Amino acid sequence: LASNTAKLAPHLAALRETGIAHRIAGKDVTGATFANHSPVDDSVICEVARGTASDIDAAAQAARAAFPEWRDMSGTARKKILHAVADAIEANAEKIALCEAWDTGQPIRFMAKAALRGAENFRFFADRAPAARDGRHLPSPTLMNVTTRVPIGPVGVITPWNTPFMLSTWKIAPALAAGCTVVHKPAEFSPVTARLLMEIAEEAGLPPGVWNMVNGFGEEAGKALTEHPAIKAIAFVGESKTGSMIQAQGAPTLKRVHFELGGKNPVVVFDDADLPRALDAAIFMIYSLNGERCTSSSRLLVQESIADRFEAELAARVANIRVGNPLDPHTEVGPLIHATHRAKVTSYFAKAKAEGAIIAAGGTAPEGPGHYVTPTLFTGARNDMAIAQEEIFGPVLTSIRFKDEAQALQIANDIPYGLTAYVWTRDITRALRVTDGLEAGMIWVNSENVRHLPTPFGGVKASGIGRDGGDWSFEFYMETKHIGFAT
Ligand code: NAD
Repeated sequence: LASNTAKLAPHLAALRETGIAHRIAGKDVTGATFANHSPVDDSVICEVARGTASDIDAAAQAARAAFPEWRDMSGTARKKILHAVADAIEANAEKIALCEAWDTGQPIRFMAKAALRGAENFRFFADRAPAARDGRHLPSPTLMNVTTRVPIGPVGVITPWNTPFMLSTWKIAPALAAGCTVVHKPAEFSPVTARLLMEIAEEAGLPPGVWNMVNGFGEEAGKALTEHPAIKAIAFVGESKTGSMIQAQGAPTLKRVHFELGGKNPVVVFDDADLPRALDAAIFMIYSLNGERCTSSSRLLVQESIADRFEAELAARVANIRVGNPLDPHTEVGPLIHATHRAKVTSYFAKAKAEGAIIAAGGTAPEGPGHYVTPTLFTGARNDMAIAQEEIFGPVLTSIRFKDEAQALQIANDIPYGLTAYVWTRDITRALRVTDGLEAGMIWVNSENVRHLPTPFGGVKASGIGRDGGDWSFEFYMETKHIGFAT
């Protein structure tokens, strides 16, 4: 902890000195500011520019002006620049991880990996840039039909406060590889690493105006971005209700939207499962990253015949999770992003009791400083309780028992969300039936969430619209064009 604190100190001093400006057409732009606090001790990290509609307009114009040259650059040239960004991310990975841990409260042990995953995202889409425009050849008796793809134009990217660095790269890398220019509006609660990423990209050779950044609040800068006529599409990661607002805001300009939204994801454990592995995975998927993770397994569905034992082992493990300063490599759960979010998470402790559930572990919030909560397990829950239906977005797991396969499926699907699901069984035919019946965009069988970048990422129902990953990302950032030649 002491060594990480010492390593972070010069970066914090630099941030305090410079603050975080917008970056428009390769230049810093400021105006009114707001203070950005660390969730660890509420100290002010730095002042951050508070974007207005006119900042968004300037950034959108810059992205529009830079678009033709970036679009027309060869895919191989774009590939080279994006690989240089990946190299620079790797070279700065430690600084990124330290700053992100301090800015978000998410433990350094996970942030170190998130920074490297950001580099991997750039490399993955860099390699695909040369073939992004490739189309198909669909001859008919009278026409030689061909399709090609063209980048849609300047796009808006709006990201949330959880794992902000990785999520920014996940959206921006494919947009740039496709030939789009970008205006990014990072989350107001964790803007530090988005700024580092921008600096890294420009130093690595990204031309000015190709990627612009406007900081500030969702209702001001974010809203103006979704309404701007020069912005052709919005890639958004955040809450379901914000997605709904963005869809309405973007309607007058017919925005294409891609939404990665909330989740209340079931982990379904059958009695024939490899229980020690299922236990490890269930714990990892809800208590890592502070439970502030869209794909977290926040609902445990456990078969009645094994439930007493499984829940007892779970409660014992949860009680031993190490809560502490996110810069400490031993810390497993750090402070939540801000006081209001902590108040939201802890409000479920009273709700659980009022609804008749049992707090089998945790259920407390240590005194500040820092927005800490104790990792919590609710047992004896029914699926119609608020603790089972609502996205708590903290280190809080709700355990619900089921009798048989049919009931497991019914409970798993009885929810507005449908992002991920996890199934644990040794019976492969049952796994096939259950995965076929589950209403979720992504399902893992006998595994936690392991991302493989060519596979599709996205949710159904209130968890999202559209898919990222592999060529799916290009489908969003590009238009398919048909040309028919008479023969
Ligand atoms: P949020 O919806 O409050 O904010 C996300 C972003 O949207 C922020 O940058 C915010 O400023 C902006 N915003 C808010 N109102 C806006 C508006 N009216 N117009 C335009 N922009 C606006 O979400 P959050 O609290 O920052 O993040 C947590 C949520 O994100 C959780 O629900 C989580 O599940 C979800 N999430 C989903 C995924 C996924 O891949 N499905 C990944 C990470 C997080």
